Amino acid sequence: MTDALTTWAGSHTFRGGPLVHPTSVTEVAELVAGAQHVRAIGSRHSFHDLADSPGTLVALDRLEVPTVVDPDARTVTVGAGVRYGELARDLHAAGWALHTMASLPHIAVAGTVATATHGSGDASPNLSAVVRGLEVVGAGGEVRVLGPDDPELAASVVGLGALGVVTRVTFAIQPTYDVAQEVWLDLPWDVALGRFDAIMGSAYSVSLFTDWTGDAVGQVWRKHRVDAGTLGDDAVLAGARPAEGPVHPVPGQDPAACTQQGGVPGPWHERLPHFRLEFTPSAGAELQSEWLVPRAHAVAAIEALRGLSDQVSPLLMISEIRSIAGDDLWLSTAHGGDRVGLHFTWQPRRAEVEAVLPVIEAALAPFDARPHWGKLFAGPGAGRTWQDLYPRWDDARALIERCDPAGVFANDYLRRVGLH
Ligand SMILES: Cc1cc2nc3c(=O)[nH]c(=O)nc-3n(C[C@H](O)[C@H](O)[C@H](O)COP(=O)(O)OP(=O)(O)OC[C@H]3O[C@@H](n4cnc5c(N)ncnc54)[C@H](O)[C@@H]3O)c2cc1C
Repeated sequence: MTDALTTWAGSHTFRGGPLVHPTSVTEVAELVAGAQHVRAIGSRHSFHDLADSPGTLVALDRLEVPTVVDPDARTVTVGAGVRYGELARDLHAAGWALHTMASLPHIAVAGTVATATHGSGDASPNLSAVVRGLEVVGAGGEVRVLGPDDPELAASVVGLGALGVVTRVTFAIQPTYDVAQEVWLDLPWDVALGRFDAIMGSAYSVSLFTDWTGDAVGQVWRKHRVDAGTLGDDAVLAGARPAEGPVHPVPGQDPAACTQQGGVPGPWHERLPHFRLEFTPSAGAELQSEWLVPRAHAVAAIEALRGLSDQVSPLLMISEIRSIAGDDLWLSTAHGGDRVGLHFTWQPRRAEVEAVLPVIEAALAPFDARPHWGKLFAGPGAGRTWQDLYPRWDDARALIERCDPAGVFANDYLRRVGLH
């Protein structure tokens, strides 16, 4: 008997099957053409049934697609199942880079951009925002190529798997660069909130880690681009102290899993993620949620969450606050303007976590909080509709209906949110 297929965290057991690993785009097209229900899965780092299907599950990890850099266009085209860590290593070796990375390099490119996955940085949009092209196998098995000027590209990148099986992704790239990462401890909350914009802007990428208790933010991670010149303004972190050695954001976890700290410069892909490719990221047995609020509401939203610490902190491993530049992708959590991400790594106490999600969503509802598509959420928030949160929601729904009228790629998740 084979083990049941689960998400990376074990938080969902897939109902669909069989699991197939096509090696060519032609094979993917034949599979989709002959299937009543089918869905692509990535590296399964989402936490719920987003990637599930009542039918065949298609993993793209064995797709034989070469990685092609176009130096003139400044793009790289890569197979859908390639993990960011592998893509980044190859890009750096060839003298190129991406603008950002998520906290972990273990995730596959097509699954990552399908959910608007992001890192942190005032000037850094999410990973989906630099997609310049997609090759997609549609519901009838037809292979479509969406280039940078195709009006459907902005609708399709954050596609939640609803528009087809992506087989190739093209990303914008830039010349490689070095980053130095430093960690500060115990930043007083009044400084963190009083100077929020200055702190989040004090490095290329800034993350605040907190459990929402006490008078101070536990850790501030700052990642400086070496080519930007200075290591940044330390005075802005008044009251905090530099960490004396490596730290892990989750209390009790081994910092050996984390990327190099201490201000030592190194390649972008070995500093921008928090976790190293060869180690288990984060904690492993965990759940996650995240809501993204407009930058202008960040401080008020954080204050609302601090007011919930009695209910939230006992279930928490750690929270992370990040900034993400806006984009124009229809279902991106940063559609229409800059956002701040309020993330929760939960202990694996599913029922208790699910009970607190609506409480958080009610507290964040006044701030137009959009839940991360790949993490646990209850809904669009108290008194809110998805249309309130996403101006192109009805257009996205209409496009899904037109591209997949028979619901080949539909699943329970899409029906729950009303996209199918
Ligand atoms: C430890 C950990 C750390 C994380 N850190 C971050 C972070 O820093 N920032 C952040 O924003 N998120 C983060 N996440 C969330 C994660 O990035 C997202 O859930 C992301 O979608 C995972 O990519 P995946 O390949 O595992 O996708 P999956 O979970 O496998 O799939 C996600 C969606 O993509 C679709 N999909 C996958 N492949 C294809 C394809 N080829 N064609 C069409 N659709 C496809 C699936 O059908 C599904 O709808 C983290 C998750 C974990 C477990």
